[in-house]
Amino acid sequence: MQGFVFRYFIPNEDGEPIEANRDAVFLEAEDAVLDRCVELFVHRRDLLRKISSFDPPLEIHLYQGSTFKDTKDQHYFYGRVTFDGDSRIMELAVEEILKTQNSFGEVMDIVAHEMIHVLDYLDDDNGILPGWSVAQVEEFMAARDLVRRSIMRGKSVIHRYALVSPEEFIAVLGEVYFTQPEALKDTNIILFELMDTYFHPPKKTAKR
Ligand SMILES: [Zn+2]
Repeated sequence: MQGFVFRYFIPNEDGEPIEANRDAVFLEAEDAVLDRCVELFVHRRDLLRKISSFDPPLEIHLYQGSTFKDTKDQHYFYGRVTFDGDSRIMELAVEEILKTQNSFGEVMDIVAHEMIHVLDYLDDDNGILPGWSVAQVEEFMAARDLVRRSIMRGKSVIHRYALVSPEEFIAVLGEVYFTQPEALKDTNIILFELMDTYFHPPKKTAKR
């Protein structure tokens, strides 16, 4: 796969990121990100092509170390997607990437989460997947409203962080879909099917 520009950062004494050379850990993280992208978009090569053909290309900044201090004075972050002019920058904590496979904590799948943000930003920045029909958007919004209360009470497989904004809802939902599809299917068939239809489109429509 081409089309992503990786850059590598470590913290200095003040917790500011300084650019570093790629070492074995960075390389492992980079491979994990690329492998995960292929898995996420295995049935949607079209989406992967879009994301990997930005001009300028999507920059993926890997942060190795736990003593970063970001500009908002948060002591540590897991990941985020930001814009700098036309550039899209995805920042990912190496530790989170490498523990993704085994952890089901607050951050379940940082690559899935941030890639959904990138997808979301393809259209308007509004927490809706690009290409959904009007009917699908309506169905999604109704289901999102309905599940709010159970998320708030901690009774849903969808983490509370989803309630921060529509953008975070779709990103967290994506994480749940990719890491705990069966649990999502059992608890919220509508949200599951919206995601499943999107990322696993029926074969007959994909065939020409
Ligand atoms: Zn997010």
